[in-house]
Amino acid sequence: MNPQPEASFKKLLPLLRPHIRRLSWGGLCMLIYVGCWPFLAWLAGELVPAIGNGELNRVSSVIALSLIVFLIQKLAQFGQDILLAGPALSLSQELRRNLFRRLQRIELGSLEKLSSGDLTYRLTEDADRVGEVVYKTVQDTSPSILQLIAVFGYMVFLDWQLSIATILLAPLVALLVSQFGNKVMSAAERSQKQVSDLAGLLGEAIQGLPLVRAFAAENWLQDRFDLEIDQHRKARYRTLRLLALQHPVVGFIEAAGILAVLAIGTIRIQSGELNAQGFSSYVAALLMLIDPISHLTTNFNEFKQGQASLKRLQEIENQELEQQDLAGALSLNQLKGELQLNDLCFSYNKGKSILNGLNLEIKSGQIVALVGPSGAGKSTLFSLLLRFNKADKGSILLDNKDINSIKSKELRSKLALVPQQTIVFSGSIEEAIRFGRNSTKESIIEAAKLANAHDFIEQLNEGYSTKLEERGSNLSGGQLQRIAIARAVLGNPSLLLLDEATSALDAEAEEAVQIGLKQAMKGRTVLVIAHRLSTVQEADQIIVLDKGCISEKGTHDELMKKAGRYRELCEKQIIRDLSPS
Ligand code: ADP
Repeated sequence: MNPQPEASFKKLLPLLRPHIRRLSWGGLCMLIYVGCWPFLAWLAGELVPAIGNGELNRVSSVIALSLIVFLIQKLAQFGQDILLAGPALSLSQELRRNLFRRLQRIELGSLEKLSSGDLTYRLTEDADRVGEVVYKTVQDTSPSILQLIAVFGYMVFLDWQLSIATILLAPLVALLVSQFGNKVMSAAERSQKQVSDLAGLLGEAIQGLPLVRAFAAENWLQDRFDLEIDQHRKARYRTLRLLALQHPVVGFIEAAGILAVLAIGTIRIQSGELNAQGFSSYVAALLMLIDPISHLTTNFNEFKQGQASLKRLQEIENQELEQQDLAGALSLNQLKGELQLNDLCFSYNKGKSILNGLNLEIKSGQIVALVGPSGAGKSTLFSLLLRFNKADKGSILLDNKDINSIKSKELRSKLALVPQQTIVFSGSIEEAIRFGRNSTKESIIEAAKLANAHDFIEQLNEGYSTKLEERGSNLSGGQLQRIAIARAVLGNPSLLLLDEATSALDAEAEEAVQIGLKQAMKGRTVLVIAHRLSTVQEADQIIVLDKGCISEKGTHDELMKKAGRYRELCEKQIIRDLSPS
């Protein structure tokens, strides 16, 4: 992903808008909490001389009053924390929701370029970190800043000259803090990128584990992993070293500053410009500055780390989105399923054309087999039909309507894809077939019957409620394929896009899948990327695609007689008899 220059938390503010009432109440509690600090400093000023003079009555009344103020302050703090936690958590939830929504709309070409592990990391860890920063800002940074203002205001009120001496020390601390902050931010960015890379590698490794074993490449993978975690350790160590250095340095400067103020204060008492009571309150107030300054230091670092995370989230937001429906896009009624390609041209990257002026007419109910060597553009044609990509030139007409003029959701509900490799989400079989649509159980059963899947589903212990494990690993390949067929025919699509599996299953499973497919194809227009001889023999039309051009058209017998490209594909076994013997 290309790094984007700016990451601003301000952009998150609109997400807080719905919580304005809670925020206001929380803000009120915060003001009460903060307002108690100068009051407590004043009470400390009253208390110290009273203790010194042994005025017992005065001491007890000041202590009693302090207890009440403390109680009010702690209650207000509780109110503030509890009232502000909700909006802050909602904000991070909303942020994640928006990002996921965005992810679902990212142009597929851009999505394919991203590593799934890296994306997962961004949507979990980075989003969490941003959420934490928002929470900290609302619940800790804001009261700390207000506390600084209120307490320092009180100090100015007590002795403005002494306050000037105190504040002269502040820029030094601030400068150091911000210097560290910037360093921490870039170190955190590096460290987060490293974790993302690690997540990316882990994602690949887990998926490719069987392959790694088959190639006995464990040592190679271990070395890559070791290198990655070593870099991660180093990057993290750099951040921790900076943080470790920051606390003692800032702490020492603070302590030196306080000692200096004490020295100046003593001089002012001696010159009679400040009394002991006022100076006690001043020192108490000064001590009350340490906590918020230390909180602000820590929070500033976390803020910088959060900013790095936010930047990485905004990079997802800046990905190109899938093309939107045109204004006034059409809805679809029942389709006949006629398809027409007119001079269809497409390229992923400028200059390297993948489809070169395809012209084709498919009548309703026809079965058309798309054949050709790998890389000929067959899957690309499917992706154009599904409008995952947009043609550079030419058009695709469905029942005489340009597919670009149709609402993409409606278009996709009328086309159903059976991919080469079945992907299912974990959940019940019923949910896997329904796949988010509003279908009744009866229609799901009907679809399963059509796909020749009903019988095996019924035989499972929990029937349609049987839970599919991750990637459907508790079903066989053939059973999964039949679930995919049922999922495809459930919405009664007019057009079936079938990407035939290249390898055969065992005889029984293969036959079951073929029965399901045949039933599913009935009464629909079917476009099948075919590898099987049996499929092409039954097709009404075979289209031979070669380097993005249609090189031949016809039936199996016609094309075999021609002794052209098609026959060559058969002879090279690119199309072959996959029926199990
Ligand atoms: P087939 O399905 O016939 O094997 P494809 O349609 O998958 O062929 O690919 C056709 C050509 O387009 C290939 O050269 C392939 O490398 C290229 N291609 C496929 N997908 C992409 C993509 N997302 N970005 C860039 N090039 C791609």
